Amino acid sequence: MTSEAGTPIQTPPPISTDVLIVGAGPVGLFAAFEAGVVGLSCQIVDTLERIGGQCIELYPDKPIYDIPAIPSCTARELVDRLMEQCRPFDVPIHLSQRVETVRQREDGRWTVTTGQGLVFDTAAIMLAAGNGAFVPQRLALPEATTLEERQVHYSVRNLSDFADKTVVVAGGGDSALDWALALRKVARRVVLVHRRNGFSAVASSVDEMRRAVDAGEMEFMVGSIAALHAPDDKLASIEIRQIGGTAQIDAEHLVVLYGLVADLGPIANWGLKIVGGRVEVDTSNYESSRHGIFAVGDIANYPNKQKLILSGFHEASLALRKAYTYAYPDKKRVHVHSSYDAGLAERIASGSGHHE
Ligand SMILES: Cc1cc2nc3c(=O)[nH]c(=O)nc-3n(C[C@H](O)[C@H](O)[C@H](O)COP(=O)(O)OP(=O)(O)OC[C@H]3O[C@@H](n4cnc5c(N)ncnc54)[C@H](O)[C@@H]3O)c2cc1C
Repeated sequence: MTSEAGTPIQTPPPISTDVLIVGAGPVGLFAAFEAGVVGLSCQIVDTLERIGGQCIELYPDKPIYDIPAIPSCTARELVDRLMEQCRPFDVPIHLSQRVETVRQREDGRWTVTTGQGLVFDTAAIMLAAGNGAFVPQRLALPEATTLEERQVHYSVRNLSDFADKTVVVAGGGDSALDWALALRKVARRVVLVHRRNGFSAVASSVDEMRRAVDAGEMEFMVGSIAALHAPDDKLASIEIRQIGGTAQIDAEHLVVLYGLVADLGPIANWGLKIVGGRVEVDTSNYESSRHGIFAVGDIANYPNKQKLILSGFHEASLALRKAYTYAYPDKKRVHVHSSYDAGLAERIASGSGHHE
């Protein structure tokens, strides 16, 4: 490959690893620890900007009661503990990376690419991808698609893009309130639109929003986005459907924060046997129909599968033992209980270093 100037473009070499873990939810994080215990190197990728999967995206402050030996902890605490547990293995985590394509080479190893340009060379792939990649729930209006990225947004990257503009923020969760509050400091006018006068956000944000409305720093309107008016392909105004009528807001930007939905996405095209949107596995090792690709946690499908975190932990543990045979086909792995594994104890005590 060459650049326009004719000089060769240096593509970074693939990242080589024993196991590529797709998904940094609770099961992917535990798999990273267990990979270290089994003696495998690994790398994690996740589409999101942060780790934790459903625990962090859907119920961070809810208590979980069915994790063995932890009578109660919030989902956020569980993710923190899982991170602490795998920290001694210094596992690289690549966030904002959606795994897209997979190709098995003649030597049996896999080349995996992300939509953002990373390339991995791996002996095995551990799909811990939950219900698929989380993507923002989009506005169901055709005109929103053509305005996306320019004037209709599903995230806020730079507050400065909204300086001195009129911005409508749609949604009633934490993200919608947090961004509406942040935007009011730079935008000319901020209108928060939510279908009811009740919010699924933390109480402190709701209180802050109500104070900001009372102080005239922003507005709040009960309603839903009915239409976008964009003459000349440029957003000019937003129609809000309300009880008993409609309202019109002249605005340059619409930020839609309706939460995330999961989409199996590119994994559905990998040639795996998929039943009901999940990857069919052999329960002796949680391997999929393509040998070398495993599925653990919520993405795995088998008779009587329970979508529980503890089931995912067990599945990952068995899958990694089979993955070892792909990474080290000539080596016989001798099982040692962790309580007798001196190398593991040393590694955990020191918090880093290599575990043989
Ligand atoms: C409200 C609620 C309460 C719950 N309470 C409990 C409970 O009390 N006890 C319990 O055991 N379970 C509970 N669960 C279920 C539990 O959260 C799931 O079983 C668990 O999160 C599954 O973990 P996972 O790692 O398999 O998947 P997830 O947590 O879904 O994580 C998957 C990750 O993979 C990433 N991903 C997907 N596709 C790609 C891709 N192509 N490229 C890169 N990354 C990708 C996603 O972005 C995501 O971060 C609850 C679930 C909900 C919604």
